Amino acid sequence: MLTADTLKTWCEPHFEDAVKEREFLHQHPELSYQEFKTTQYIVDELSKLDIRVERLLETGCVAIIEGAIPSERTIALRADIDALPIQEEGDAKKSFFSTNPGVAHCCGHDAHTANLLGAARVIAAHREQLVGRVILIFQPGEETLPGGGRLLCETGWLQKQNIQHIYGLHTSPSHDVGVIASRRGELMAAPDEFSVRIKGIGGHAARPHEAIDPIVIASECILALQTIVSRNVDPTEKAVITVGRIEGGTAHNIIPEEVRLWGTIRTFSKETVDLIERRMHELLAGLAKAHRAIIELDINKGYPAVINAAESSEILLNTAKALFGGEHVEDMERPIMAGEDFSFYQQEFPGAFYFVGSGSKQTDSQYVWHHPKYNVDPGFFTTAMPMMVALAFGMSTTP
Ligand SMILES: [Zn+2]
Ligand SMILES: [Zn+2]
Repeated sequence: MLTADTLKTWCEPHFEDAVKEREFLHQHPELSYQEFKTTQYIVDELSKLDIRVERLLETGCVAIIEGAIPSERTIALRADIDALPIQEEGDAKKSFFSTNPGVAHCCGHDAHTANLLGAARVIAAHREQLVGRVILIFQPGEETLPGGGRLLCETGWLQKQNIQHIYGLHTSPSHDVGVIASRRGELMAAPDEFSVRIKGIGGHAARPHEAIDPIVIASECILALQTIVSRNVDPTEKAVITVGRIEGGTAHNIIPEEVRLWGTIRTFSKETVDLIERRMHELLAGLAKAHRAIIELDINKGYPAVINAAESSEILLNTAKALFGGEHVEDMERPIMAGEDFSFYQQEFPGAFYFVGSGSKQTDSQYVWHHPKYNVDPGFFTTAMPMMVALAFGMSTTP
């Protein structure tokens, strides 16, 4: 078993390259499922390492590093590679702005990619000490449904690889550089989108008896939806239903024909989301009948919840503590309600997801994910890379 010092010494020579590589990727962002140049870059870099690379989807790739010590042990490490449809903003002095107008790496996936490439170089350079093998997943389309994680799982290739644990990370602007945060069990929620179309009969505001007023019905719908979490969901379960957008009407004295609502559902268990969806259909159908209106509900299923497997998260947290010391590891008290398509892998294999601190005042890197000024502090790599390498090799967690 390797020690923390050995692993850090292996990674150190690669930090500077990872910073430069991330800046290069940052300058050439591509949207979900269109990561063609990014994929070519990754494939070219991996090919230099004399390892097997496979392209399972149009974009993204997987690579296999065989260790010199034969074993059934197989660990998968995942990075997502896509950018967002955002016009980047920020300090004019920054030397590596996006060169693709309206597209930017504002979720840190450039850093995830550079980090896994760096880890690949370290692992490949020391494969004589690697027990079993490591599978590297460079995944496209994390930001856009149906999710590259889902598409990769649907190819069936991963399921044939005897994967024992899969790990993935995300930059965290709200954590200082040097910190690793994760938790056992629920980590991130399942986000589903919905829209409601309420069709009544329009008319004069002063002659409501001749109309079917969709604005009054929409008001009842919104209140009724709120009773699902408060009256139907088990109070010890976590769930959110938010109507975030409402649209209808053109003037104060016209009853409109139609009102539309849009919202999000956030849950952690399939039972809860199934219950919520069933109740939404029942309540809205009842209100449609009661008011002689037409109400259509459309639910767009997002990603499942990120639930960290017991053994994987145990290994993850112990490895982080052994590498960086307990004071740099946050065992998170609560999950967060944001979503991640890493959850698709966790439906197939035991796995754990974690956050690596990437925020620092000096580099203006404390903006929230998806902010046009989002930035990653270069110090991110000094934590992220040794952690990935340590998970790949399996390190001694007893001092
Ligand atoms: Zn994102
Ligand atoms: Zn992201």
